[in-house]
Amino acid sequence: MTDQTNIEFHNVRFCYGEVCAVNGVNFSLPSHRLSVFVGPNGGGKSTLIKLLTGLLKPQEGTISYRRGIEIGYVPQNVTFDTSFPLTVGELVLQGTLTKQIRPFARYTSAQKGRAADAIRRVGLSGYEQRGIGQLSGGQLQRAVIARTLASSVDIIALDEPDVCLDIDAARELYGILRSLKSEKTILMASHNIQAALDVADRAIYVNKTVREYASPQALKDELNGGISL
Ligand code: ADP
Ligand code: MG
Repeated sequence: MTDQTNIEFHNVRFCYGEVCAVNGVNFSLPSHRLSVFVGPNGGGKSTLIKLLTGLLKPQEGTISYRRGIEIGYVPQNVTFDTSFPLTVGELVLQGTLTKQIRPFARYTSAQKGRAADAIRRVGLSGYEQRGIGQLSGGQLQRAVIARTLASSVDIIALDEPDVCLDIDAARELYGILRSLKSEKTILMASHNIQAALDVADRAIYVNKTVREYASPQALKDELNGGISL
């Protein structure tokens, strides 16, 4: 594994019973890039993200991680009880908690600073006191990203973060993800192929197996040439 690589998949296979979602998967995830998984519904994008985050284990093959790497996962359809009385500020502050939670400990000023910075980066300054139930879909998605950003993770893996967003909200989200690359490695799964390829540094086409492309444009050209989706 080179210094520029965070994660490598070697010949990975995963089946749900009889259904093999992904097979023979080889790819690597470079640091400080925005990589996207694109491909048809049911092609295995979510399965790959769950394998990468450790929620699923490969049944064949291996996944190697750079030592000490931490991954933040933003699942498809962020579902938590939005009637729960939690503000944006509290949600993001929770991201700064270390794994050893000390009961009743107060947040340090460094943690508060990290949370405030993350909130600003996703364009939610001024919304700190707003309940998460009062946010639009795009704002909630951005609040969840801020929570990940405030944590110490190196990689942020987002599964279809654009699925419920209108085109303007999706563009705004992509712009935010691009702006995070200097600090984090970003991986996004999207079925919004054209838009995702416009914003990506690296394109990985997922349909049971994966194909890495030298550039998003190379994949676009091939799609225009008629890969069926
Ligand atoms: P994508 O995210 O690209 O839409 P998924 O990884 O969700 O694809 O699904 C890949 C394949 O695995 C599909 O055929 C899907 O039906 C199947 N699959 C996904 N999750 C499960 C599950 N929990 N149980 C059984 N089959 C599943
Ligand atoms: Mg999916």
